[in-house]
Amino acid sequence: MKVSFNVLDRQYLKYKDEYLVKVAEILERGHYVLGNEVRLFEEEYAQYVGAQYCVGVASGLDALILSMRALDIKNGDEVIVQGNAYIASIMGITMNGATPVLVEPDNCYNIDVEKIEEKITEKTKAILVVHLYGQMANVLKIREICDRYELYMIEDCAQAHGSKRCEIRAGELADMACWSFYPSKNLGAFGDGGAVTLNNEEMSKAIKTLRNYGSDKRYHNKVVGYNSRLDELQAGLLRVKLSHLEELLDERKYIARCYLDGIENKYVELPCMIHQSNPVWHLFVVQVESSRRMQFIEYLEQNGIQSLIHYPVPPHLSEAYSYLGYKAGDFPITERLSQRVISLPIYIGMTETEIKYVIDTVNGYAGE
Ligand SMILES: *Cc1c(COP(=O)(O)O)cnc(C)c1O
Repeated sequence: MKVSFNVLDRQYLKYKDEYLVKVAEILERGHYVLGNEVRLFEEEYAQYVGAQYCVGVASGLDALILSMRALDIKNGDEVIVQGNAYIASIMGITMNGATPVLVEPDNCYNIDVEKIEEKITEKTKAILVVHLYGQMANVLKIREICDRYELYMIEDCAQAHGSKRCEIRAGELADMACWSFYPSKNLGAFGDGGAVTLNNEEMSKAIKTLRNYGSDKRYHNKVVGYNSRLDELQAGLLRVKLSHLEELLDERKYIARCYLDGIENKYVELPCMIHQSNPVWHLFVVQVESSRRMQFIEYLEQNGIQSLIHYPVPPHLSEAYSYLGYKAGDFPITERLSQRVISLPIYIGMTETEIKYVIDTVNGYAGE
């Protein structure tokens, strides 16, 4: 039996008729950029997140770049972020000329809130919270730190659409929350897309201006901006998917529950569950001893199961960030995780047979 890491057409087939009707409607309307679909998606998504405003942009990375630009985060400023974030989170900071200040993660893969304050300096402007793999970081505590030190709280929610912790939704407490609609994300488009949600009207206008060459009135440019717009087709298709999001998230939660209940192997460490947390399982990430990981991956592969590593190279050791001057050993917890994590298949449309096969195969791993 073969189980791919992800099979994206199954989530399409689930609501195929609705998508096709929407595509035809948009194509026939003849308005393809910044029209009604984007406006309506922005309204509907803001409401879903519990924010007053939403601005659609071209990608999750652009959401990060534009939101930090709107907050005037620039050269000379520092932004605190977890060391094991996806590298795009760090790029949102450095594309604005600011410096990422890395903090080690906790046992649940998110920023260790106990280690944030020691990193705050005169130059710190913001804390960028990345809800990794779909489980939320301790936003209550981070909001409290941000308020106490007068820092912006930015959330990278690219992996956390619909995630909750203590009944607080991802993005709800942030000054700016950044979203990606890359196809494999929990709310994925059929191409690239992203958004910023927020509660500040002036800032939402600033991001709207930035996404459209720095102009709020055609051919009148206030600042040097970007071309970073969510297009009508993606927005329209996202509206269809958003109307089914809870059911899609429930499907991921069901698969994760099967894994958590069914996987039992002394070589495989399951992801931690936080009290009062309701993660959305963008990824199901287990750990095995670093000396065994390659062999475990090959074992899965020989049995037809595809797995991935999120992420094999921590940002501070990537070639792209060699200029920051870090070396191996600087962030031991982050580095240890990068050598131990493995993501198992979890996707919309996964069958009972496939779920059971993954569980049985993982349980059958004999460590040799
Ligand atoms: C996917 C992702 C991004 C980047 O989003 P794109 O839409 O691919 O640009 C940023 N941060 C995190 C945590 C992500 O998972």
